[in-house]
Parts: sequence; structure tokens; C-alpha cells
Amino acid sequence: MSKDKKGGSEKPTNVIPLRQGCLCEGCKRTPSRAGFCDEHFDWFKAGLITKAGHKAKDFDKKYRSFTHKKVA
Ligand SMILES: [Zn+2]
Repeated sequence: MSKDKKGGSEKPTNVIPLRQGCLCEGCKRTPSRAGFCDEHFDWFKAGLITKAGHKAKDFDKKYRSFTHKKVA
């Protein structure tokens, strides 16, 4: 019982599956704007993540000033 019947070709693991949720990595919330959930759309606007959902190079720095602004 180790073979499945669906053609037998294994999917390469480096293929990114189509997302149904928010584009941000690891987020499974329902997207509401531009493919992001509310929180991550804010991140995108603030430049924390790219439109593909990847973190910016200086994410840590931006995130700090982002949360700082929000708290104030
Ligand atoms: Zn999200």
C-alpha cells in the first residue's frame, strides 16, 4: 500500500502551492485586500513585505518602527 493510483509522478517539493489564504508566509487567514489579510495588507503598505508576501530585507527594522507607530 505504498503506491497511490493518481499517476505516480511525485511533486517536486520546491514548487510553491497555490494559496487560498493570505499571501504572507505562514498566514492562513482569508485575504481581504490585494491577496493579504487586513493585518498583512498593513504590512505590505508599510513595506514590511513584498506583494508576493516575502519579508523585506530590513524587515526587523521596519517591523520595529511599524509596531512603534501603531502602539502610539
Ligand atoms: Zn495574513
